[in-house]
Formats: sequence, C-alpha cells, structure tokens
Amino acid sequence: MPRVVGGLTTADLLPGKDDLVAGFPQQRLSISHGCGEDQVAEAGAEELNRHPSTLKLRFRRSVQHAGEGPGSFAAPREEATVGRVAVLGTGIMGGPMARNLLRAGHEVTVWNRTMEKAEALEEEGARVAPTPADAVRDAEIVLTMLTDAQALEATVVESGGLDEMRQGGLWIQTSTIGVAATDRLAEEAGERGITFVDAPVLGTKKPAEDGQLFMLASGPEEARARCEPVFDAISRGHVWLGEAGLGTRLKLVANNWILCTMENLAETFVLAQTLGVDPRSFLDAISGGAMDMPYAHLKGEAMLNQDFPASFPLVHARKDVALVLDAAGDVELPLVRATMQQFDRAFELGHGDEDMSAVYYASAASAGARS
Ligand code: NAP
Repeated sequence: MPRVVGGLTTADLLPGKDDLVAGFPQQRLSISHGCGEDQVAEAGAEELNRHPSTLKLRFRRSVQHAGEGPGSFAAPREEATVGRVAVLGTGIMGGPMARNLLRAGHEVTVWNRTMEKAEALEEEGARVAPTPADAVRDAEIVLTMLTDAQALEATVVESGGLDEMRQGGLWIQTSTIGVAATDRLAEEAGERGITFVDAPVLGTKKPAEDGQLFMLASGPEEARARCEPVFDAISRGHVWLGEAGLGTRLKLVANNWILCTMENLAETFVLAQTLGVDPRSFLDAISGGAMDMPYAHLKGEAMLNQDFPASFPLVHARKDVALVLDAAGDVELPLVRATMQQFDRAFELGHGDEDMSAVYYASAASAGARS
C-alpha cells in the first residue's frame, strides 16, 4: 500500500499513470524514474503538505525527453522546473497557454488589452497586470501570443515593456508575425540584452487547451534549456531549428500548406454541390486512403453544417497568407495569390471572425451568383 503523507499518497507522486508536480515558484521538484522513487515521492509529498496554501497540483504526461542540437526534436520531459512567466495576450491561444503554465506550477502574470480575458485566469492563480510593462518587470520569461506585428510593436515596444524586461531575460515569441517583423524584434531584443526565441506554434484552439501544441523554436542554443519548462507545459514537443527567425520561416511554410488546402477543400465542396454530388460522399470515398487527411473531415464537417466557430479565425488566416506572399518576395506563387483573393472575398462578405474554413463562402458565393 502506498504511504499516506498529509493527504497525498506516495503513489500520487510516483511516475506510472501520471506525474504529480508541485508548483512552488522558484523551486524545482524532480521526479525521476528508477531507484529511489519512493524517497523522492515521500519528500515531495511532505514538502507539498507543508505549504497547503500555495499547493498547486497538476497531472502531467509521461513522455521521454529526446533530441539534442539544431533540427532535433524533443518531447516534454519528466522533470518540472517552475518559474515566473509573464504572458502577454490571452486570446484563443494565449489564454489556454497561460492556463497550462499555471497548471504546471509556474507563477504566471497575465496581461491582455481587453482586461476581462486576462481576469478570467485570476481564479486559476494568475496575477493580472494593468500594463505590459508591469507584467514583464519581474518575469524570468516573457511569452507573447498576440495577433500580429502591429500588436506586438504596440504591446512590447511602444508600451515600454521591452525596456522593463530584465537584462538577460528570455522572451519567447509565439505569435505568427512573419519574417520581417521577427527579424526586427530579434534585433531590438538583442540590443537591450534580452534573449529572443522565435517559437511560433503548430496547433489550434483544442491543442492549445490540451497542452498539445508543437513549438517551432529557434534562437541561441543556450536558450533551449531555459525554454523547455515552458514548452513542457504547453506542448507535445518542439523542434529547435537554429538561429532566431527559422521558426517563423517554417511556420509560414506549414501555414502555406494548410491555408491553400483549406481553399482547395472549399472549392472541392462547392464543385461537388454544383455537380449534384453530396460532399459527404467525397469524404467517404477518400476516407482511410492515401488521398485522405484529418483536416478534410474536421473542416469539411464545418462546411457541411455551415457552422464555423472560430478555432483559427479567418482574419488571422488572411494575415498569414499575406505574410507568405511578403516572405516569398519576387517568387511567383499563383496558388497562394488565388487563395489570398478568396480569403479577401470571404472577409469582405463578413466572415472574418469565423473559422478559416469559412473561406467556403467565397466559392459558394460565386456558385450562387452563377445559378
Ligand atoms: P485572438 O484570440 O484574436 O487573440 C489575439 C490577441 O492579440 C488578443 O489578446 C488581442 O487582444 C491581442 N491584440 C490584438 N491587437 C492588439 C493590439 N493592437 N494591441 C494589443 N493587443 C492586441 O487570436 P489567437 O488565435 O489567439 O492568435 C494569436 C496569434 O497566434 C496570431 O498570430 C495567430 O496567427 C497565431 N496562431 C493562432 C492559431 C489558432 O488556431 N488560433 C494557431 C497558431 C497560431 P484583445 O483580446 O484585446 O482583442
């Protein structure tokens, strides 16, 4: 039988089903596998129960850490290091990311332009800061998750936040802002002695809520270990690509793939409907074969129901297509240009706040105009 220590059993702290991690700011609780597990667990439980008022617990995935060096992949590790993290931007993505940082035991300060969204995290233990500068002042790590470059400039630079960040502090920039802005912000951070890590994410609302994002990280190699406690809390893993800016470049490549795919799916559905084919029979026909992809079903369902709750808002998808074209410069990408037109059209039809799959309306409108 597991020994009970002040209400927690040692079994609670043993790896196996899940790891239980205590959230003491600035403290490190390492739960290791192998010999000595019982002792580690007992010490952990006694420590937890000495501080009932500050006790924060979370269950954590048991995934091995693997991978070193540029281009290597890593999954969340078994050990937890907690620290002071400021999260600027608590929207669809930043809100759940802050929540998962709290669950992992980090001391989290949040700021959001619309304060109510930040205040929603208060009861889960976040401190709400009145300004970005106030949020970052004592943070060891600053994580930004804002709409675009303009929002970042306003929040981090123009507000004076960057000047308030600690010398040697770490800034993990996870918003999708494109190549030019990323390079500019990396330079500005460097001039002020801030370590800048460019780490946009793969995954949308649900993976953000589940702590299952995938981080496309880039920056100085020595920053990697400092990022990992944050990555562990919000992601299923990361790839470390090399110098800052490479994460954003890979993010644009990945988004190019999915955004053009979204337009392709919308046109495929509208073509089916024009030909009197039930789009569901198209989904059934590709199901499980080489032509299939989960996104076709996920977003196809939304198109079938003409119900597009925002997971990745169309207005952000449109921004990202523009970022792809901007990054490509003189290189001709006709498919991306056509996709841009369709996102513009759906936006002008009033679907900007719906999910990106609402790009369907652009093709549906033209089909309707012909009939
Ligand atoms: P969101 O819910 O619209 O959140 C955007 C955040 O930016 C909010 O906190 C918003 O504040 C803030 N903001 C916008 N303009 C601002 C300004 N001028 N000054 C200060 N704050 C401003 O969007 P999201 O889905 O979380 O996306 C955030 C970023 O992640 C974007 O770059 C997006 O492309 C990227 N991303 C999104 C997804 C996804 O599936 N949703 C996936 C991967 C990456 P308010 O609350 O006051 O409006």
